[in-house]
Amino acid sequence: MNKDWSEKNKKMQALISKEATFDEGIKLLIELRTELFEQISFIVKTFPPVAFYQLPFGDGEGNHCTTLAWSLWHTFRIEDIVSHELILKNKRILFDGGWQEKTSSPIITTGNELAGDTLIEFSKKLNIKATYDYCKAVMDFTNEMLEHLKFEDLKKTFTGEDRERLVESKCVSSDERASWLIDYWCGKNIKGLIQMPFSRHWIMHVEAMQRIKNKLCQQAKKGVDQIAYCGLSCGHCFLTSWCGSCRTIYNTCSYAISSPDGVCPNTACCKEKGLDGCYECDELYNCKKGFYALGKDTNAIRVMALFIQRHDKKELLKVMDTIHSKKKFEKIQEVLGYDVEEGLKILEEWRGN
Ligand code: SF4
Ligand code: SF4
Repeated sequence: MNKDWSEKNKKMQALISKEATFDEGIKLLIELRTELFEQISFIVKTFPPVAFYQLPFGDGEGNHCTTLAWSLWHTFRIEDIVSHELILKNKRILFDGGWQEKTSSPIITTGNELAGDTLIEFSKKLNIKATYDYCKAVMDFTNEMLEHLKFEDLKKTFTGEDRERLVESKCVSSDERASWLIDYWCGKNIKGLIQMPFSRHWIMHVEAMQRIKNKLCQQAKKGVDQIAYCGLSCGHCFLTSWCGSCRTIYNTCSYAISSPDGVCPNTACCKEKGLDGCYECDELYNCKKGFYALGKDTNAIRVMALFIQRHDKKELLKVMDTIHSKKKFEKIQEVLGYDVEEGLKILEEWRGN
């Protein structure tokens, strides 16, 4: 589990356990949820539609053996049921907001009963943009509820009537993979529900989503040219575990995700000019587009592209392998310095190693 999130979660639990620090604990809980939701927003905004119904880890056990679409639906459907149908008894965001129609979801349940092909089929049907909006609506309503919670509310438990209401709502499938959920939730007090599903459950599924998206990126990169359009080597890049390369639809490089159309300016320019990469361009040395606009801080990228221009891609990959096997660093910028000619000289020296 992500150390920061896990520590924040532990600290939050300790804070809400004492009346004097309860408000601080709720504040921390909302902060943690905001951080986790940022990860979700990043995935929804940067990954292509096809990514949301892939099952890259197959149909096994574990939270990562699902799809991105299912993870979104499941996490927030559970929160909607628990916070609004169980705790508040009368608010039902999915139905009140017309979200089932908007999301095109064929189910109103938590999705625990789905696996394999049925899980993929369900994921294909979901309108991801609307599902994300539903998730946001659920989070906002729950946050509001949490902000109004009092320390004494934490001990509140649930009755047989509450249980019956959930059963009758049919929000949880009667399938044995799902039906246990009602007894599980009803057996907890509100303090227990803050852990599952309002915090730890989020951490588990956001982490699973990260694993799924990283795996999709690795799969996308297989067999693809490992030299990026700008001249960087994807295999040696410090973002390699979570970026699927600018030569695939899984490009999550920092420039691509900050460009309005999701395409890095260097990639767009090369495609427009019909070039394999910036190393084929006469304007490379003085270019000020995309990564090259950042000047000294990205000097290494221009240096690598110029090195390819002087030699070839294979030679750059060979030198990069050598540098990485003999030197410890995170970004190649740390090795190649802030001057083009100096950087080229450094690469030539390593070439002789
Ligand atoms: S950030 Fe650029 S170099 Fe790094 S993996 Fe992504 S496309 Fe490749
Ligand atoms: S003009 Fe700049 S961004 Fe465009 S291909 Fe040439 S070097 Fe790359």
